[in-house]
Amino acid sequence: MSGSSARQRAIEAVNIYSPTAEPLNFAETPAGELFGSNVFSTKVMKIRLPKEIYKSVLATVDEGAKLDSSVADVVASAMKDWAIEKGATHYTHVFYPLTGSTAEKHDSFLTPDGAGGALSEFSGQQLIQGEPDASSFPSGGLRATFEARGYTAWDVTSPAYILENPNGTTLCIPTAFISWTGEALDKKTPVLRSMQALDIHANRILSLFGHDEIGRVRSTAGPEQEYFLVDRNFYYARPDLLNAGRTLFGAPSPKGQEFDDHYFGAIPERVLAFMLECERELFKLGIPIKTRHNEVAPGQYEIAPVFENSNIATDHQQLIMTTLSRIANKSGMSCLTHEKPFAGINGSGKHVNFSLGNSTQGNLLDPGETPHANAQFLVFCAALIRGVDLHAPLLRAVVASAGNDHRLGANEAPPAIISIFLGDQLTDVFEQIKSGGARSSKKSGTLTVGVDVLPPLPKDAGDRNRTSPFAFTGNRFEFRAVASNQSIAGPLVAMNTIVAESLDYCATELEKATKGDPKKLNAAVQKLLKDIINKHGRVIFNGDGYSEEWHAEAATRGLPNLTTTVDALPVLTSKEVVSLFGKYKVLSKRELGSRLEVYLEQYCMTVTVEANLVVEMGKTIIYPSAMRYQSELAAAAANLKDAGVDADLSVLKEITDLTKGLLSSLAALEKTMASEHGSMLSEAKHACKKILPAMLKVREHADALEGLVADDLWLLPTYQEMLFIK
Ligand code: ADP
Ligand code: MG
Repeated sequence: MSGSSARQRAIEAVNIYSPTAEPLNFAETPAGELFGSNVFSTKVMKIRLPKEIYKSVLATVDEGAKLDSSVADVVASAMKDWAIEKGATHYTHVFYPLTGSTAEKHDSFLTPDGAGGALSEFSGQQLIQGEPDASSFPSGGLRATFEARGYTAWDVTSPAYILENPNGTTLCIPTAFISWTGEALDKKTPVLRSMQALDIHANRILSLFGHDEIGRVRSTAGPEQEYFLVDRNFYYARPDLLNAGRTLFGAPSPKGQEFDDHYFGAIPERVLAFMLECERELFKLGIPIKTRHNEVAPGQYEIAPVFENSNIATDHQQLIMTTLSRIANKSGMSCLTHEKPFAGINGSGKHVNFSLGNSTQGNLLDPGETPHANAQFLVFCAALIRGVDLHAPLLRAVVASAGNDHRLGANEAPPAIISIFLGDQLTDVFEQIKSGGARSSKKSGTLTVGVDVLPPLPKDAGDRNRTSPFAFTGNRFEFRAVASNQSIAGPLVAMNTIVAESLDYCATELEKATKGDPKKLNAAVQKLLKDIINKHGRVIFNGDGYSEEWHAEAATRGLPNLTTTVDALPVLTSKEVVSLFGKYKVLSKRELGSRLEVYLEQYCMTVTVEANLVVEMGKTIIYPSAMRYQSELAAAAANLKDAGVDADLSVLKEITDLTKGLLSSLAALEKTMASEHGSMLSEAKHACKKILPAMLKVREHADALEGLVADDLWLLPTYQEMLFIK
């Protein structure tokens, strides 16, 4: 298919578009009724389980009590009946391997009864534990083939749900995935472990502040997912989009994002229909989708749910990504969650809003009206500042990927330098603490709009800062460096653990200083806050994170700047990180080592696939187009000469030079790819420092050719088409 025929089909697809699903009549089925209708929620359990069993399950879900395995048979039977009523024929343990994707293996409920019939069965044992033959998932050395067993274990705290398909439904049970030796092979296990650590130390702080009723403290996460949509005709006509998720070639579109006319603009009908269908599906799964809008780049959008506890938010985020991709296909489009699908156009991130709280004290990062007088808030906030400063390299490492390298550091996303934006009000409070004690908080006040018919608007105490990787946004922090395509588990594990460590430190200091005497708390807190801000205040930066001055300034402050994945990933096995994760039993040294190995390998594989695509597309798609045009020009020149006309050979000459350049840069790339480099880390370094630049050289020639070759001979859909036809 040539670029222009893909264009014709895409235009046709837009013009004849009609929704794939029956439009939902919200008057007949209110969204509220739909919400959670496919979830085996505590509400459903309350109705379907005997009272004692329900109470026991609830104690695990709400308060983290140890799971009583004797309840499993009863829960399994109720779950099966509920699922079968909803049309389920199969069940699956869903797990989250280190690839970052979601894995599932489906089993039928039916078992032959030996008399020619079949019974539907689902025992407690089948609910609690599964043994998928998952030896092909990367384990980074945690499982040799002779000890390849891996088990899935029911996560009671994340509700089971029904996934619909036109031909039947499946009961899905979120699980952790662990090896025969009990080591974590997945992304969920460390989330659960880190949440447990966080709870313990947050509790100590709350006890010091005199609370005697303290609910389980959990971190909360609200991830904002950015993504692109392109017409599926274009997607299939671009091997790079299909296989690498991003374009490896493509001259800039004459019109890009410079007008900012897409951001928050009216949403095209086909796209809005897609969004509505996604939201409906996600509602059924109990995922509280709240926000949708156009993003900065043409063809770019965002979807965001209301925050939930980190474990559930992580599972739900995976479902959001798979649902986006599934419904996009149904709508004749493809959803791109790559961090940088188009060069020169804003990429996509996943801003993870993060806080911690419980049912008794509420959001622990809510400063209230007068933060200077809110000692408890200040301790939690200072603990976080301390954690981010101490473990900035770790926070960089958990967002490192080949895709995110194209984004971090370009002027659209936070730089690879991890700093915190606190805003005017809190910065002022901490400045006061530094110089002796905080006595006041800057007031937020109201905005005067200057138009009588408009109401006065309450003003936030601080402005926003889009350039900060870690920004305080009123009652939570927003980790903006997270990649659009990654699981949010890694970033949350890091956040939970560094905050747990910091709260442990604060609690220990305060316990030492007060020795059980609450009257001494105030002075002890003052001292603690002052110490922390003196030592770790360097990580606070409220200015323009994109600016060159900041890079220089950050260097004088001694803040690390790990620019690429290859620089950042080895942090995972650094002394600091091994001891941090070991102390809180989140990940052992071996488990960290396995992650380093897997992520480095993923990096190498990603670059290798991309380089292979560059070679293939360069030789079989771009070069032939250039050659055809070159022959056309040469023939035309010869004809003109025969006719006695003086031909202008400048374009022919340019094409010829560029084509030669294309071939020699392809040869250079292939040579670079052929060299061997031993360890995974040196392979990754080679990919980063040598292969990626060699790919860019090929691209330079190809993109210049795209600007010259006749449109009807150019085979690849162009940026202009992909970004604007929808
Ligand atoms: P923005 O204006 O930054 O684009 P959005 O409204 O798109 O913000 O998303 C903000 C996200 O922050 C939502 O997912 C919201 O639920 C989440 N959020 C709000 N409060 C908290 C909290 N206490 N903990 C975690 N996330 C929160
Ligand atoms: Mg948003």
